[in-house]
Amino acid sequence: MSKYFSSKYVSLTPYTPGEQPKEKKYIKLNTNENPYPPCEDVIKKVSEYASSLNLYSDPETTKLVKEICSLYNIDEDEVIFTNGSDEILNFAFMAFCGKEVSAAFPSITYGFYKVFAFLNQVSYQEIPLNKDFSINVNDYIGINKTIFIANPNAPTGLCLKKEDIERILSSNPNNVVIIDEAYIDFAKEESSISLIKKYPNLLVTQTFSKSRSLAGGRLGFGIGNKELIKDLKTIKYSTNPYNINTLTLIAGVATLQNEKYTKANIKKIIDERERVSFELERLGFEVLPSQANFIFAKSSLISGKELYLKLKEKGVLIRHFDQKEISDYNRITIGTKEDNIILLSTIKEILKEVTI
Ligand SMILES: *Cc1c(COP(=O)(O)O)cnc(C)c1O
Repeated sequence: MSKYFSSKYVSLTPYTPGEQPKEKKYIKLNTNENPYPPCEDVIKKVSEYASSLNLYSDPETTKLVKEICSLYNIDEDEVIFTNGSDEILNFAFMAFCGKEVSAAFPSITYGFYKVFAFLNQVSYQEIPLNKDFSINVNDYIGINKTIFIANPNAPTGLCLKKEDIERILSSNPNNVVIIDEAYIDFAKEESSISLIKKYPNLLVTQTFSKSRSLAGGRLGFGIGNKELIKDLKTIKYSTNPYNINTLTLIAGVATLQNEKYTKANIKKIIDERERVSFELERLGFEVLPSQANFIFAKSSLISGKELYLKLKEKGVLIRHFDQKEISDYNRITIGTKEDNIILLSTIKEILKEVTI
């Protein structure tokens, strides 16, 4: 740290992203990326638009707004696009939390919420999960805090039902409730987008990073009541009006114009999620019932950390969290069928090694 670093950030601990190793080719099941590349149309359009990079990108993201409005049947002033959904989550902390309004989120959830709270000097309450890792909705009733809930939650993969979300929304009318739907496209439960007309305090965030194969493009969005969206735009235009670059914008448009491709990939991933869960259970793992593109599992034969390290040694990367309550578990992203076959056979090999 330099002597110039602002004192307000001296104890800021940044988010630790999953490894993106360059030294070796791994089967990469550690950051919940989509194993399938963007569709052909995206690749074609991005190269076409590269020649206009001398111009600023469209701050209003007009083409993207049009596509998303027809897909989700919302109005143009009910959506904002951001540089990944991480950016809109940060904007939400900036816009809807402060000295008087603190934040609340589950004690086991997306690690970035805590970082954004600290970054924005917002105090926060971490609400413990039930023993089975589910969210106890009663803990969120009328708490007068800005609430952040990942639904499905990460890294558990568990999902709340719409009625539960409505109970949280209706009991906290004076606070914004942010439902982070990074993984909703893989879930049986329906998106909360349909609730925005009924609850002016609801902000739904989604991302192109998981179901839409654009993690490297950095594209996310928020949908909510137009007044909330206006507030978020005030933040956007006060930080970076050009937060969506031209190539990402056009990649997003082409992606939305090829929903069939996205849907087909989602189906493949869900089918594989069910198969991998079943196979791991046969190997004695306890697997949480996931509604996301990853599973959260533990074995009684090997610790979470050891399994992670041994898999890494053998060329398969998964995610292990040191947090005490979940350190027995690993989060495994669902890859292609070929990836998953290697994952399972490597796990079998490791279990054999530790049990002889
Ligand atoms: C991946 C993820 C995000 C953010 O993804 P972006 O790549 O920034 O869009 C947000 N919330 C959760 C729960 C995630 O897992």
